[in-house]
Amino acid sequence: MLPFGFDNTYARDLPGLYVAWKPTPAPAPQLLYFNEALATELRLDAPALGGPEGAALFAGNALPDGAEPIAQAYAGHQFGGFSPQLGDGRALLLGEVIDRAGRRRDIAFKGSGRTPFSRGGDGRAAVGPMLREVLIGEAMHALGIPTTRALAVAATGEPVRRDRALPGAVLTRVAASHLRVGTFQYFAARGELDKLRQLADYAIARHDPHLAGTPERHLALLKAVATRQAALIAAWMNVGFIHGVMNTDNMAISGETIDYGPCAFMEAFDPEAVFSSIDHGGRYAYGNQPRIARWNLARLAETLLPLMADAEDEASVQRAVAQVTEVIDAFPALYAEALLQGRRAKLGLSAAVAASDTASIAADMALADDFLAMLHAQSVDFTLAWRRLANAAAGDAAGLRALFAAPDALDAWLARWRDRCALDAPADGPDDIGRAERMRLANPWIIPRNHRVEEALAAASDDGDLGPFDRLLAALRQPHDEAPDLARYAEPAPAAVTACYQTYCGT
Ligand code: AMP
Ligand code: MG
Repeated sequence: MLPFGFDNTYARDLPGLYVAWKPTPAPAPQLLYFNEALATELRLDAPALGGPEGAALFAGNALPDGAEPIAQAYAGHQFGGFSPQLGDGRALLLGEVIDRAGRRRDIAFKGSGRTPFSRGGDGRAAVGPMLREVLIGEAMHALGIPTTRALAVAATGEPVRRDRALPGAVLTRVAASHLRVGTFQYFAARGELDKLRQLADYAIARHDPHLAGTPERHLALLKAVATRQAALIAAWMNVGFIHGVMNTDNMAISGETIDYGPCAFMEAFDPEAVFSSIDHGGRYAYGNQPRIARWNLARLAETLLPLMADAEDEASVQRAVAQVTEVIDAFPALYAEALLQGRRAKLGLSAAVAASDTASIAADMALADDFLAMLHAQSVDFTLAWRRLANAAAGDAAGLRALFAAPDALDAWLARWRDRCALDAPADGPDDIGRAERMRLANPWIIPRNHRVEEALAAASDDGDLGPFDRLLAALRQPHDEAPDLARYAEPAPAAVTACYQTYCGT
């Protein structure tokens, strides 16, 4: 079968951290989605993979040359409760390739059949949720947010049993790695310190190679992961993304968004927004995401302690605990810094005015907070409001005002914002066109709106019609450009639809 140019370090260097396993063949493979540009980026034979050979390969029926499929072991805290053994219950890592930019990328299946980690699950995935992962992941990528990506989705021709029978599919996922907080938890919980140390060194070599061999590398790894997560969660918050299931097994060491299950984008701004049908307590609600990230990082920190200290030497343990605590306690500030940077871009501020000045940081944070408070109070669409603020920078505030039932508060806020813009830099062209242009790049016009996603998936899954999916995907790939024929993708869902919208896990 087609060569992928695999170089499988995980399989080679980490025996005992996975189980070698094979995908279950599918009766009638059919390629539903193939990302030719991504295949090219990965140095794969894109034209060949887009044809019948690709269908067989991406359904798991014929492995590419050099693939060494493995199911990775990991544990995880799910909704706060620890599961010592999760692992790839329906996924397999095929191997790693070096892309055109010289980056090592994992290529993995999801939905390719049962593995020794499947527990009660069927190891399968349905067409709808896998195409959903394509849509949301590609939208995130187009928005410039670190994410795993979908290379292909192949229908298997076999039904999977959920609340009803659904068409089955295999997703091929590309990731900077599949190392999770939960991977560390698995070996820490079992007291397998040699494997834990190997894993940490592997993670460092892969994601933070400049730390390799340094004496305090485990603490530095924690800091690096915290920094990446701070940037990631800030980016999520600034586009209104709700991951929905931020369990520690779904937090990647790489800092990429991983595992698109019950995720959704917010419509009307509400910090308590939660769409997941299984998140009864709102643990993973929009506004909780930064706190949960910190909590997950604390779980990662716990796993690193035995590598940093000698358990017999109380003083060394105390020192290590103090060191990791300092990193975890610094997370809110790291996050706030990343959030502020994104918010300034959204507000059209280049941060030229005393960016490091504490008063100006607080004032700019308050400016954004007050904008959001107005959106919340008047149930205004998050994405549209920010987007139309860009038009206000170009002198047209009518569209933004029209979103508010009571626009007086907005007018007062706009006056404050204009004063701040004037301080930031002189008007950029007539009516501040330059600022408006920059703001449009920070404030997308199109996000994957829940009703449009559902519409596309229903057509694909129920009727075998991929037209709506293809058109939505094309729109999501250019989120910042307004085009009249794409207007239907920019419109919010009717409030009644959003009010009862639920996303399902166990996908
Ligand atoms: P997730 O909620 O997708 O992050 O998955 C949590 C755990 O459940 C992981 O260990 C998955 O491999 C496993 N899992 C999810 N769905 C299935 C399935 N259909 N069959 C087997 N294992 C599954
Ligand atoms: Mg997962």
